[in-house]
Amino acid sequence: MTTPSLLKLRVDMKSASPTPENVFSGLLLDRNAEQRDDAAWIAAQLADPRARFVLLGAEGHALAQRDVDALRVILADERSALLPTATPSYLGADDAGPFFSLSAESRDAARIAAELGGDFIDLRSAGTRLQAFEAGLFAYARALSHWQSRTRFCSVCGAPVVVVTAGHRARCTNPDCAIEHFPRVDPAMIVIVSYGDACLLGRQATWPEKRFSRSPASSSPANRSRTPCAAKCSRKRACASATARTTPRSRGRSRPR
Ligand SMILES: [Zn+2]
Repeated sequence: MTTPSLLKLRVDMKSASPTPENVFSGLLLDRNAEQRDDAAWIAAQLADPRARFVLLGAEGHALAQRDVDALRVILADERSALLPTATPSYLGADDAGPFFSLSAESRDAARIAAELGGDFIDLRSAGTRLQAFEAGLFAYARALSHWQSRTRFCSVCGAPVVVVTAGHRARCTNPDCAIEHFPRVDPAMIVIVSYGDACLLGRQATWPEKRFSRSPASSSPANRSRTPCAAKCSRKRACASATARTTPRSRGRSRPR
């Protein structure tokens, strides 16, 4: 069931966001990076009755409304009853208040979805079902949560790390090391492989019928933008004669995970 406040949130998001060609890049959010280390400031954001929480399940899927193509964010007055022990990560704020992300174990995620009448959706579905602001918000929360879940030990000394800065850094607990780790930013491109009037599309066997995708290509440090795309096409799809072409807007975008 969609509550009046959620409907209003949906309308506000629509009016505030543009509709870019890449739906995941439509997130207009003040991330307040300079204030994430201020514990008192973060506590004040958490205490804000306007705070909203994007809930991610164990698979990194986001809770969405069942009857509307929109996220089912957890409102401030719902959070303490639904998931009181999870540590939120600060995402940012818009004119309507702050956003946080919450990660839940499978059992808690299923319970909350049942209580709120929502369903979990994956990031790929979000690209077609959600409005740009919410798709970007989901991608942002998912990327942060994914990094946190895979950053448990220091890559320098092997000691456990602790997440700090409202979720945006991991600090080694070994006092002789104390190095800080940051979320990954992998350069990636979405490209069109064309040959005459045709273009190359791919799909995974698990995808719904008639879903196809262009080719994502990840780059390595100091690599040229054309190289990873051409290599992938040649290696995985045997398209030796295909021409890889990138567009200006495809350069420098990070791929949501
Ligand atoms: Zn260390």
